[in-house]
Amino acid sequence: MAKEILLGKTLEELTQVVLDLKLPKFTAKQIADWLYKKDITSIDEMLNLSLKARTILKDNFDIGLTATIKEQCSVDGTKKYLYPTNMPNQFIETAYIPDDDRATLCVSSQVGCKMGCLFCMTGKQGFQGQLKAGDIINQVRSLPEWHQLTNIVYMGMGEPLDNVPEVMKSLEILTADYAMAMSPRRITVSTIGIIPGMKTFLNESECHLAVSLHTPFDDERKKLMPVQNVYPVKDVLKMIREFDFGRQRRVSFEYIMFKGINDTPAHVKELCKILDGIKCRMNLIRFHPIPNSPLLGSDEETIEEFKDLLNKKGITTTIRRSRGLDIFAACGLLSTKELVKQQS
Ligand code: SF4
Repeated sequence: MAKEILLGKTLEELTQVVLDLKLPKFTAKQIADWLYKKDITSIDEMLNLSLKARTILKDNFDIGLTATIKEQCSVDGTKKYLYPTNMPNQFIETAYIPDDDRATLCVSSQVGCKMGCLFCMTGKQGFQGQLKAGDIINQVRSLPEWHQLTNIVYMGMGEPLDNVPEVMKSLEILTADYAMAMSPRRITVSTIGIIPGMKTFLNESECHLAVSLHTPFDDERKKLMPVQNVYPVKDVLKMIREFDFGRQRRVSFEYIMFKGINDTPAHVKELCKILDGIKCRMNLIRFHPIPNSPLLGSDEETIEEFKDLLNKKGITTTIRRSRGLDIFAACGLLSTKELVKQQS
């Protein structure tokens, strides 16, 4: 039988592990230190644990680190990694995006996704399973460049707030002093607006929030994103309005520009109306066409005009640079569908 995995356990869980194994309580802190701060890949390398403790631990647990099994490099420096997961024959993709003064990792939170957004390759793959916190942390910890990382975004495969318990655990491990000790201001969780998950995330973490908006109009959003039928964006915005983000925490909105669909001055006007009173930023994203989709991306001129109009109306708006297009690592293009097909 497969052993339990240490990676992805919080300090509280590790404490329970060592107590169950009749090891001293302080061993939990030592294990966390090795797992989340150092470059070891085996329990044998946890040298400040007694030989007895390492043996008992090895008899019962695996460390849970799994190296990437495929790496692709884009002409623009973006890299895409393929990782195995806790589920047999299920894989995820992770995008590493280096820039001048920052290096961002775009992590996955599920294998596939059940949300069915019309414009997304991951959505087209369907849902294959929830990642464990260990699978999420492994994308960081097994990344060849993990010491260079400055930012992490939960914008890879899956809807993070459809996997709240494991995502929240992974956020604790990324930010806690006993583990990776990253500033929550360097981590952004992106959601299409799953209200119950947003409540937990906002109350129990300090990381930034990004909401995929894509249109201010109800009917249009229903066509693009079925979630609108369950959690209408007006309710999402009501919740955001009522939450105190403080001075440092940020909410941003993601807006993919579709030609002739959501890129008109009427959309700008309505966006200003529905976002009134919310201190936020808007990220415009170029649409990267996916197979068998009638959707097209807006042209550059329209995107620029849209940005200028929003800025003039007081909504700080930027256009996100498309990265890793040639290796299908750009926004909305991550998918392990081919691997799913091969396994079935
Ligand atoms: Fe899922 Fe996000 Fe793709 Fe929608 S955009 S289908 S929520 S991965």
